Amino acid sequence: MIEPGLGVRALPAAPKFHHLPEGKTAMHQPVEECGVFGIYGHPDASAYTALGLHALQHRGQESAGIVSFDGEHFHSHKALGLVGDTFGSEEVIANLTGHSAIGHNRYSTTGGSEIRNMQPLFAHYAFGGMAIAHNGNLTNAHTIREQLANKGCIFQSSTDTEVFIHLIATSKEANLIDRLKLAMKEAEGAYSLIAMTNRRIIGARDRHGVRPLSIGRIGDIYMLASESVAFDINGAEFVRDVEPGEIVTLDKNGVTSFKPFQQNFERFCIFEHVYFSRPDSLLQGRNVYETRKKIGAELAKENGVDADMVIPVPDSGVPAAIGYSQASGIPFEFGIIRNHYVGRTFIQPSDHIRHLKVKLKHNPNWATVKDKKIILVDDSIVRGTTSRKIVQMLRGVGVAEIHLRVACPPTTGACYYGIDTPDTDQLLAANNTIEEMKDSIGVDSLVFLSIDGLYRAVTGNDRTDDRKYCDACFTGEYPIPLIDFNNKEQKVISFSLIREMYDKIIKS
Ligand code: AMP
Repeated sequence: MIEPGLGVRALPAAPKFHHLPEGKTAMHQPVEECGVFGIYGHPDASAYTALGLHALQHRGQESAGIVSFDGEHFHSHKALGLVGDTFGSEEVIANLTGHSAIGHNRYSTTGGSEIRNMQPLFAHYAFGGMAIAHNGNLTNAHTIREQLANKGCIFQSSTDTEVFIHLIATSKEANLIDRLKLAMKEAEGAYSLIAMTNRRIIGARDRHGVRPLSIGRIGDIYMLASESVAFDINGAEFVRDVEPGEIVTLDKNGVTSFKPFQQNFERFCIFEHVYFSRPDSLLQGRNVYETRKKIGAELAKENGVDADMVIPVPDSGVPAAIGYSQASGIPFEFGIIRNHYVGRTFIQPSDHIRHLKVKLKHNPNWATVKDKKIILVDDSIVRGTTSRKIVQMLRGVGVAEIHLRVACPPTTGACYYGIDTPDTDQLLAANNTIEEMKDSIGVDSLVFLSIDGLYRAVTGNDRTDDRKYCDACFTGEYPIPLIDFNNKEQKVISFSLIREMYDKIIKS
């Protein structure tokens, strides 16, 4: 059923972009990178959810949680750590009984390993229980929190997800979907959320559709997931993406669709194509691996250099390096070997551990690269830590020349929509010229893909005014208002006060 839009709030006729004030570096807010999964109507719902979360592990590695519903009771299990550690035992899955379940993988930056912030969250409403999990970041969460706190709402976590819980709870609308519609009109920012009540599973995407969310099926059993790889692992087929601004429900009637907004402005995160999603996922109907190979081909076209071999920084640089090699005819070689028993470099809360892990993770394949002129391909440069260490290692084994090619434009802006990037003052490209970056990383040449080259690889066309992507991390054009940041200092202080308050409560 498609509902006509309610049109409560007038939307601008054309997309507007929001820039941080000139010369100011952005104070970054806590960001949560996450993966979500939900399934309705299967006797092994929690096992399917655990498998789905396994496939989405790259989206968050700090904690994992599942809530199931057995027709009478909700069951929950959440823990810090990887999905395999938490849901590896048959006993844990056996206790999560029921035909419906939702799950969540979480990674958060600021003191994120807190137990109270693990998802799915659960709340008792007048209409019954509801579990909710979300991927993304609201840009007015602090503002709404303050308003709700002034009305007497008591928050138990510091996640944006809880804002939805309270917006739904305090709504005057009679039914849940209407309450969610209004909550979606209040909440600004990026969110792909999954909720579960005693009657159904609900999925929703913000009206810009920044984070992915797709529908899959096995026969007439439907599921939702951040990425299609979570369907593959469960032997399910991909049906379609949830549309920007769309709410879908999965229940005994199958899939029902609601569209609360009269107009949506799609702004899918282009960085999902570059790095964040798994290469075997389908994003917007396109295979991510193929897109990344096209990115590599664009890089080769834009800035070819003669060399003996193309070497990826594994694993994330591999598809672009293959594309570069195929387009240029320069042989592809594994000149760096990755130790797969170490997690993602970036996904570690403290700098100290991050530095250690870079050394643990990669080793030059010296017999292959010694005395060679190499093209080194990586997906992106954030702080520059990885590139610097890798280049040092390669120099250490006698590589003759290193030409670094980066599969996206310089990352000059922090993400406020759900990808963890450091504050702008820590972004190498935000504070250095390309020449300075080249020297600080220690390479013979350094080239980033142009923004048009990135769009050509993803869409087939140059970047135009009617684009449907968020590329703020490369252009500084933030398509969704950064409401909590218009008066950044004040909001950040009030947020840290809230945090202090929570910490005191938790410790006492
Ligand atoms: P850095 O060492 O800070 O320059 O990090 C760069 C590497 O981290 C890239 O080569 C990516 O593989 C990875 N990366 C980039 N952005 C992110 C992100 N938001 N979350 C996790 N990893 C990332």
